[in-house]
Amino acid sequence: MTDKNKKPMRRDYQAIFEKAYDLMDETIIAGNCGECCGYHCCRRIDDNGKRLGMYLLPLEYEYMQCEVVTNYDLHSQKHYTMPPKIKKLYYIYCHLTHGCLRDYRPIQCRTYPFEPHLENGAFSLVIEKEQLHDCLLIEHRSAWRQAFIDGVYNGWLELMKIPIISYYVEYFSKERIAANNMMIRYPSNGYDHPIKENITNLP
Ligand code: SF4
Ligand code: SF4
Repeated sequence: MTDKNKKPMRRDYQAIFEKAYDLMDETIIAGNCGECCGYHCCRRIDDNGKRLGMYLLPLEYEYMQCEVVTNYDLHSQKHYTMPPKIKKLYYIYCHLTHGCLRDYRPIQCRTYPFEPHLENGAFSLVIEKEQLHDCLLIEHRSAWRQAFIDGVYNGWLELMKIPIISYYVEYFSKERIAANNMMIRYPSNGYDHPIKENITNLP
């Protein structure tokens, strides 16, 4: 690809990330759910004192977080287990002095407790059986705002227009299927997604 061709692609990916952040900017319930649980999924250390962080999606640092995030580790394929076609992932920690940079919180914070799932080319959102945070709202799904569900769902459909993200989602979906780690799937029959075409285009 020539330099001339790179610029439109960068703009396209930027627009996709910005649209996804916007679609996924809905609260899960009316009000601040963190007040019910002491901000459990925003803890900076776990019960054993281990520092907690979260992985950004491939390209999320480059397109959305590089001017915001100050505290991160760069994990490489050489030292960490990650999908074979991904060479590095950014593992970030919440801002130590300013707390949550809410307008810039990453996709992983916006989508939780849903995870994106691709199975036989069909897309759905799932809630996993194995939960690091034990979100109490999983038992109270009738209180979830439809705008949150729709926003997360449509945000992922945007993000999966980026081939490396489709690949990433499919990789972890296969692990989830192998581990039988699905409690709830929404919608139950999935949505046909042109994943094969996307992944075939990967370098
Ligand atoms: S664990 Fe659930 S209820 Fe608590 S802050 Fe996270 S999403 Fe909200
Ligand atoms: S970025 Fe914000 S929403 Fe995400 S885990 Fe940190 S404090 Fe919570």
